Amino acid sequence: MEIVKTKEEIKKIVKNARINGEIIGFVPTMGYLHRGHISLIQKSKKDGCFTVVSIFVNPLQFGPSEDFKRYPRDIERDTKILMDASVDAVFIPTTQEMYGNDHLTEVYVSRLSERLEGRFRPGHFKGVCTVVAKLFNIVQPDRAYFGWKDAQQLIIIRKMVKDLDLDLKIVPVPTVREDDGLAASSRNVYLSPQERKKALILPKTLHRIKQMVECDRITDARTLIERAKEMISSEDIELQYIEAVNLETFEQVSCIQNNTGILAAIKIGNVRLIDNIIWE
Ligand code: AMP
Repeated sequence: MEIVKTKEEIKKIVKNARINGEIIGFVPTMGYLHRGHISLIQKSKKDGCFTVVSIFVNPLQFGPSEDFKRYPRDIERDTKILMDASVDAVFIPTTQEMYGNDHLTEVYVSRLSERLEGRFRPGHFKGVCTVVAKLFNIVQPDRAYFGWKDAQQLIIIRKMVKDLDLDLKIVPVPTVREDDGLAASSRNVYLSPQERKKALILPKTLHRIKQMVECDRITDARTLIERAKEMISSEDIELQYIEAVNLETFEQVSCIQNNTGILAAIKIGNVRLIDNIIWE
């Protein structure tokens, strides 16, 4: 496994792999790797790709009062995980390498970026799209793997690729959960044991709602959202949003059907957690 820090080096590695007839699979991450990240890597490997992973905590996507400085980082541990997962190359740029001192250009997918997460994290998706567009241009992958855990991000990136005619395929990967049902996330380490117990109300609620839709055939969005709010309010946590939306527009829907999802965010102390159920 090659580990490189510069754009020039990763470009050279990818170019050589392509000369050897490889298909390039790319998994962008912010590191502090967990089972969710590993499932993206495994999917890329299973697809037969020469698999490139990037680790970059992107300052552009964090708001001024967010957790950029304290975001968990452990490159040594990550490197070992990536080696065990038989990753082919790892790109770990510095902020200086990515942005230099005079970076002015931003990539912004309008409308979709303002809804749901966008209401609570202004500018977040502009930061995400800018870094992901740059990483796509640097790595030039054939396929890039993104998790449904961050459903809004996945959909916005898919839209960016379509709108900008970028020549790659976005491959979605299902959410991986911890044994207790909580969606795997680098931010889970922030939770105290008591907070973690409280956090479980989110996956439990979504699981119950999924059953109501798929077993009891209740598809009326208002009924489902009311039930979900009732369940979540049984814990002393802040519900930031829970909405049933169309997965192309993020407009609210009145009925659950294909291409809709229920997306939610909660806050426990200082920790924000997101989760969702998707009907593709
Ligand atoms: P992050 O390091 O949090 O920026 O995530 C990097 C990639 O891993 C994104 O495509 C995420 O959607 C994906 N990811 C994060 N957590 C999970 C999870 N629990 N299951 C599946 N994919 C995930």
